[in-house]
Amino acid sequence: MTELSPYRQFAEMMQHGDSKWIPEILKLMVDDEQARLLVSLPGTAREMAEKLDREPDAVDADLKDLFRKGLAFKKEKEGNTLWRAPGRLIQFHDATLVWPEAPAELLDLWRDYMDEEYPSFAREMARRSPQRHTRVIPVGKSLDPGKVQVLAPENLKKLVESARRFAVTDCTCRLSMRKCDSPVEVCLQVDRGADYAIERGTGRELTKTEAMGVIQASEEAGLVHVAMNKAELGYFICNCCGCCCLSFSLLTTAGLRRCESSRYRPTIDDDLCTACGACQDRCWFGAIAIGDEDVAVMNEEKCLGCGQCAVGCPEEAIVMVEVVGADFIPQ
Ligand code: SF4
Ligand code: SF4
Ligand code: SF4
Repeated sequence: MTELSPYRQFAEMMQHGDSKWIPEILKLMVDDEQARLLVSLPGTAREMAEKLDREPDAVDADLKDLFRKGLAFKKEKEGNTLWRAPGRLIQFHDATLVWPEAPAELLDLWRDYMDEEYPSFAREMARRSPQRHTRVIPVGKSLDPGKVQVLAPENLKKLVESARRFAVTDCTCRLSMRKCDSPVEVCLQVDRGADYAIERGTGRELTKTEAMGVIQASEEAGLVHVAMNKAELGYFICNCCGCCCLSFSLLTTAGLRRCESSRYRPTIDDDLCTACGACQDRCWFGAIAIGDEDVAVMNEEKCLGCGQCAVGCPEEAIVMVEVVGADFIPQ
């Protein structure tokens, strides 16, 4: 049997062995020696040198280069640095797109992959693992704490206060897809995520006040907050558009929902609504529109509870209400 090239082996490691684009993306980033090293991970530099019959110093230099490129990740264990390859395709995507020396062609290749191969791959992954790992956090101003219960995992101000460290990186989806002119430097990396981005040189460290400033500016730009679907903050706060975002674009173009909604939905006061259409314009998901009765109507199936329609209504005709209980958020 012919041995697979390291580029094809890497596509298999990403669970997308028949991909046309993944081997091409890797070929643009590494030479054959680095590709062989990558698919031979995990291990320490010394172990890799023995396995591949190479000089330890050269292997060490290659591993540091792969780290900078977003292809190798490290962890300290019992006084040694243990290296590993990306665990999943999304990690490969997110880490390599912010490689500081990335050629423009890399962004184009990722866009081609996302356009041509990602929807069917994501559908298959969703079939194998239906759990939604991310969740929408509503715009803070859209929730009236006098009327609804706002839990700690839904309060970005409190979440930011509870974190140790922040960095901001470019939004990888908008870097590659370029379908809108929404702000790009708005991906907040938190704690270990921030440590990684700062060490790699892909993120700019922020104070908590500056992190809140990014959240505020993202809300004003109409972006949707997304965090990990759990009670603690986790490692990122994404500020997403509906067109470039690899998760939301699956919903808008292929009807596949990979991000959990918030616990809230808009209700519309028909007496106050003037059918101005501002809410319709602000919703990325086509979940609110002017109906036959000349008032705005929300589509429960499509709504993710982001609150952007409520903060944009000039008549204050939209109020967000809780539709599920606190146990909706995984502990
Ligand atoms: S998930 Fe959202 S903020 Fe994060 S990279 Fe994609 S569009 Fe940008
Ligand atoms: S923005 Fe407010 S007033 Fe305008 S259509 Fe929507 S609900 Fe009605
Ligand atoms: S209707 Fe659209 S803008 Fe309003 S909360 Fe739902 S998803 Fe967000």
